[in-house]
Amino acid sequence: MAKGTHHVIIGIGIAGNRAAEILRERDPDCRITMITMSRLPFYNRYDLPKVFRGVRDWREILVDPPAHYDKSHITLRRDSRVTNVDGQRGTLTFAHNEEIGFDRVVVCTGGSGYLPEDLTDYRHLMNGFGTFEAAMTVHDLLPEGGRVVMLGGDMIGLDLARTLRETGYRVSLVVNDYTFWPHRVAAQRGKYLEALERLGIEVHQGAKLESVKEGPKGMPARCLVFEDGSELFGDVVMPFCGLVPSVEFMLGSGVDIERGLLVNPQLRTTNERIWAAGDVCQIWSAEENAYRFYYGWNNVRAMGEVAARNMTGEDEPFVSIGDEELYLDKSGHIDSPFWQHD
Ligand SMILES: Cc1cc2nc3c(=O)[nH]c(=O)nc-3n(C[C@H](O)[C@H](O)[C@H](O)COP(=O)(O)OP(=O)(O)OC[C@H]3O[C@@H](n4cnc5c(N)ncnc54)[C@H](O)[C@@H]3O)c2cc1C
Repeated sequence: MAKGTHHVIIGIGIAGNRAAEILRERDPDCRITMITMSRLPFYNRYDLPKVFRGVRDWREILVDPPAHYDKSHITLRRDSRVTNVDGQRGTLTFAHNEEIGFDRVVVCTGGSGYLPEDLTDYRHLMNGFGTFEAAMTVHDLLPEGGRVVMLGGDMIGLDLARTLRETGYRVSLVVNDYTFWPHRVAAQRGKYLEALERLGIEVHQGAKLESVKEGPKGMPARCLVFEDGSELFGDVVMPFCGLVPSVEFMLGSGVDIERGLLVNPQLRTTNERIWAAGDVCQIWSAEENAYRFYYGWNNVRAMGEVAARNMTGEDEPFVSIGDEELYLDKSGHIDSPFWQHD
């Protein structure tokens, strides 16, 4: 590597942090800049359900203290949203109009909760759970023993549902195509829904959701109306319908995009200076003859590692780690490789 090569990492989740570790290890003299649009440094989002177990301060789920970045000679740019990446010029632009240059960039911007078209009208009546602030808002809105209505119920939502049940809250799950995402359960769906019922989750399926509205005075804050005329009340309504990769800011970058950033198995985009890792990237699979996503802590971390190794001279493909199947454990409860992390 040329001395002082400037590596920029956009996103400070699992993929971005692993990439930074490897870059620093393999290229001690390089400049590393990490960028996040969040105000907070890297905290573990898998731990967000812990706000229902007494966590009140984001510092309790922090992965690395702010001093870690200084020690590793990493410039951390917080609260800074990237709005454009120019792969030809090797520059990126922030929302506040500043432009910085890079030799190589790895995009690790993850994804945000997907909201299906038929739910967008009710966005203002629903709550997300993707950040510490959002998790605290849900916590504060729920009265003791209150009810959360989950629409969909992907594996992120179901993880929260387990915690809510264990901490005395009620959960109603409105089943749709995204229930159990990213697992494809097909014929086994009934068996897994029964396992959720054993956890005390109320499962609603069949009637199509017609609308979401505010509950009348004296009733829970939200009311869901179904096409058969039935109603379901809850204190909070939360959509959990999988993730949509955060790629909008890459639209002018010149790299190929489908849903995610398209990368080869070595995690390089169609521009030789731009790499991607984590939930944002869609990786070419010769086996499936298609670009596809790989999820889970182990995979996301491995992608950060592979991208950084390849940015510093290797040429190794990403290989998915572990099983992708949902299963029932010995006590008949749902478990998933998606929930396993160090
Ligand atoms: C509550 C919760 C529970 C979860 N539980 C699980 C679980 O049990 N198992 C599992 O596998 N996954 C789980 N996930 C998903 C998991 O968090 C992601 O798969 C993982 O974090 C992806 O890591 P990443 O590094 O790709 O991106 P992310 O962790 O999503 O990080 C994205 C980073 O990019 C930054 N960013 C995005 N856009 C921009 C921009 N334009 N400019 C600057 N910065 C930007 C963000 O600020 C952030 O730092 C959970 C997620 C949540 C929210």
